[in-house]
Amino acid sequence: MYQLSRSIYRELAPEILEDHVAAAAGSNHERVLRACESAVYRLATDRYYFAKPSKTLFREIRIYFPMSAQDRVFRVVDRYMTFARQWLEAQPSHGYDLAGNRLECRATTRKGTPCQRVPLPLNGYCPSHQHLADGELVERVVAAPPGTQVAA
Ligand SMILES: [Zn+2]
Repeated sequence: MYQLSRSIYRELAPEILEDHVAAAAGSNHERVLRACESAVYRLATDRYYFAKPSKTLFREIRIYFPMSAQDRVFRVVDRYMTFARQWLEAQPSHGYDLAGNRLECRATTRKGTPCQRVPLPLNGYCPSHQHLADGELVERVVAAPPGTQVAA
């Protein structure tokens, strides 16, 4: 996964604008690399709440590229982020995410406590909460901040 953010960065690096000022907070190259790393990390650990990974990363880094490169930058970002998402969805669930956090079903039980069963990789719900993944509810759950109670 970490190689993936490096790959995005390497493919974009030749187009990154020169720094206008010698900033204390690091160069444009460092900022682009860090943005790629945090987007990939977030996708790997929190993808059910990361609604538009490609657009989010693109918005963050586009200012470091010339106008003429914007289309290409978005295509590169979108290609890698789509690949990463598909790769993650294809992984068997071991009950832990790539950062070692225990995976838990996204649903909240009637008692108001989080469901602690192991979720399916496809949608983040355990087998008994699959009905919550159907239809409009998905939109509401995705839009709700973590910990928000949903019908169980
Ligand atoms: Zn559940």
